[in-house]
Amino acid sequence: MLSPDEVKGFLAPEEGEALAALTAQAGALGPILEIGTYCGKSALYLGPAARQVGTILYTLDHHRGSEEHQRGEAYHDPELYDAEIDRMDSLPTLRRNLFRAGLEDCVIPLIGTSAQIAPHWSTELGLVFIDGGHSMAAALADYRGWASRVAMGGYLCIHDVFPDPADGGRPPYEIWCMARDSGLFEPVNRIGTLEVLQRCAR
Ligand code: SAH
Ligand code: MG
Repeated sequence: MLSPDEVKGFLAPEEGEALAALTAQAGALGPILEIGTYCGKSALYLGPAARQVGTILYTLDHHRGSEEHQRGEAYHDPELYDAEIDRMDSLPTLRRNLFRAGLEDCVIPLIGTSAQIAPHWSTELGLVFIDGGHSMAAALADYRGWASRVAMGGYLCIHDVFPDPADGGRPPYEIWCMARDSGLFEPVNRIGTLEVLQRCAR
């Protein structure tokens, strides 16, 4: 059985384990949704935890990579590049990983951009994990599109939050500030670069 540490990606084990524990707590409130699947590393933590509490994980990605994954950029992976159409494509790798991890029953890929899918979504979610694009436009679309779908008592988790701009890009930090200042969420924990907020008002 494929384990998360065998999957390419950008998530520390303690962050993955924290996401699984939060899913165990909030999964009864509704399904789990993550933005930013890549090859499924975080999905391999979230999926089994969702199944354990009788729910599922929706994992959303256009699978064309973020800015930093494109050809010539720092995090480009030639194995995830489709030369015939000159585009990144992490979907085939994801599907293979979900099959090998035995998670096809509880992890449902959604293929598209966050902004395309969010307006059509009405199901309340137990936990939303934002780990998508790091541009301000992408981060804002994730926050605006999905934060309101978190059920009361559910969790909004944001990855790659760097309070010090010297450590990394700011948009995930900016949307974390928006959530904190909205009066709708309370910060409850930070694990690595993962910030966890809980929905406390409507
Ligand atoms: N959670 C993953 C890492 C995600 S990397 C892991 O555990 O390894 C970020 C992903 O977000 C990339 O695969 C990229 O294609 C996707 N992405 C970036 N902007 C997006 C957007 N606006 N809508 C959907 N997916 C997006
Ligand atoms: Mg990340």
